[in-house]
Formats: sequence, C-alpha cells, structure tokens
Amino acid sequence: MKAAVYHGPYNIKLEEVLEPEVKAGRVLVNFKAGSLCGTDMHFYRGDWRWMKRGRIIGHDACGVRDDTGERVVMVPIVNCGHCFFCLRGLPTYCLRGKFYGLTRDGFFAESKTMPPRALIPISDSISDEEAAVVEPVALALRVLNHLQPNLGDWVTVVGQGAIGLLMTQVALMKGCRVIAVDIDIDRLERAQKYGADAAIDATKVDVAKAVREITKIGSDHVIEAAGTKQTVEQTPFLVRKAGKVALIGESKGYLNLEDADEAQFLTMYISPVEYPAAVELIERHLVDVKGLITHRFKLEDFEAALQTAANPQEKALKVIIQK
Ligand SMILES: [Zn+2]
Ligand SMILES: [Zn+2]
Repeated sequence: MKAAVYHGPYNIKLEEVLEPEVKAGRVLVNFKAGSLCGTDMHFYRGDWRWMKRGRIIGHDACGVRDDTGERVVMVPIVNCGHCFFCLRGLPTYCLRGKFYGLTRDGFFAESKTMPPRALIPISDSISDEEAAVVEPVALALRVLNHLQPNLGDWVTVVGQGAIGLLMTQVALMKGCRVIAVDIDIDRLERAQKYGADAAIDATKVDVAKAVREITKIGSDHVIEAAGTKQTVEQTPFLVRKAGKVALIGESKGYLNLEDADEAQFLTMYISPVEYPAAVELIERHLVDVKGLITHRFKLEDFEAALQTAANPQEKALKVIIQK
C-alpha cells in the first residue's frame, strides 16, 4: 500500500510499504481523509527532528472500518489506563502511551490497524473532510474548558490560523468577547466573520496598547496561538491582573511578569479526552471546520500537499489529504 513516510527534513515521501498486519484486538481502517497539522510542518521544515526515520506520519484523519463498514474518526493517542498519569485523567502523558503519527506509525496510509477503543463512529451529517479536522477542535475545547471563562469575559486570541480561528469560535460559543490578533488581514476578516468583537492588525498597531484600550484593564484571558517566541513574550502585557494565559503555539520565550500580578500561565497539549465532544460539535455544525479548509489533495499527491502547506504565499489554513 501507499503511505507518507518521514525520512528527515524536506524529505517526507509517498511510497510503497507493507500492508499492516491485523493482530488480535485490532481492526483495519481504510483511509478516507486526513489533514496536515502544524506539527507535521515542524517535522517537514526540520524545526523538530526527533521523529524516527521510516515513520508513517499523520495524526488527524478518518476512515472506514474494514470489518463493520462504519465511518470513524481515528484518535491518535492511545493510553494504558492505569499508570500514574492515566489514573489522574491525563492520558496524553501516559507512561506507556502511543501517539500515532509521532511515536508510532500514523494515518497517512491507505490503511491502518487500530484498537477499536480509539475509533469514534460518525454519522452522515459529517463529511469525510470535516471528520479530518478534529484535532484542532479538540484542542480549542480543552483550552477553553481549562480557562473557564465567565460570560462576557474578554479573550484575546493571538494568531488566527486554523487553531486560533477555532479558539475564537469556541470562546464565542462560551459567551466570551473575542479580540482577534494577527498579521494577516484575510485571517482577521475570517475571525470577524465568526463573530470576533475586535480585530487587531499587529503589523499596524501596538497590540498591548490596543488591547488595553478595548478592555480598559487588560484581557481576562489570553491564548497564544501564533507560535512565535515574540508572541509568547507579549502575553504578560495583554493579560489583566490575576487573568489567565494559555501558551498553545509556542512555549519558549522570556516572560516578564512585572505587570502581570497574579496572572496564571499554562501550556496545554492535545488530549483524547475532548475528542468525542469535538466530533459532536462538528456533527451538530456548532463549529465550522469546512470554512478552514483552503486546499485539497489526493493521497497520491501528498508531497505537493506538503509543499503547498509550507509555502506562505499559499496562505494555507487546513490542507486536506483525500483517498
Ligand atoms: Zn496536530
Ligand atoms: Zn497510562
């Protein structure tokens, strides 16, 4: 079968690999659609190099169960259920956990064997391409659930890429007022289309000053989803005293906390906990993922998909890979 295999920076190739062997307790899932994620691009560009060469990549995808014919979303994290972290409700940090597409072979292959408990059946109200964009929805849910904003709170979302735009959507759903920040006018317009209360073009104005002007006291919550050291370092100047900051896109940088009295800073990663709720939100059309899809490629054209996602001029948000 064909699969997208990591061989190092700028060297991820679609190639012929052995069909997976269906062992006891596993089922075969035939690939339907998947999406590229920022993590895949970090490996493609060589920012991160710890992936084993020869690994099949891809961790956000859906397919069809070979045994039952059911359409399913594949959850990339499988945990043991009884280690220190699992017992504390933190499956992402499972001491015996597997992360498909990172520490184990992933989903960008014609088929994949999966433990059935890592499959979420989906209804006809969700298309294959929508079921291929579950991870950023699950992440947005996780972050907003942890921030626990009150109705009317100001949430400043720095970076309006696919993840930031979903943070914006989920924050609005939670009754927050959203300040969208980006350096790209198209992305800011998308955020406003979703209902963001204010849009700040960081190329034109001083973001900290603009956030102060709108909120008077600083933003109740700040979500860093731009993924740069510079935006991380800006967060203490956007948050109000005793507010909360979630660092999602990047976690490196120097935090000057002299004006951020009692503010809480946290990092947050994807977890399987929010996957069922994320799938349900997409099925009920309460979040829009279809509008985030900017490019579509066949699995055969995987390398072109990567090049497109890596080219800033393409302004890609979500790039879909289809069977
Ligand atoms: Zn991802
Ligand atoms: Zn565990």
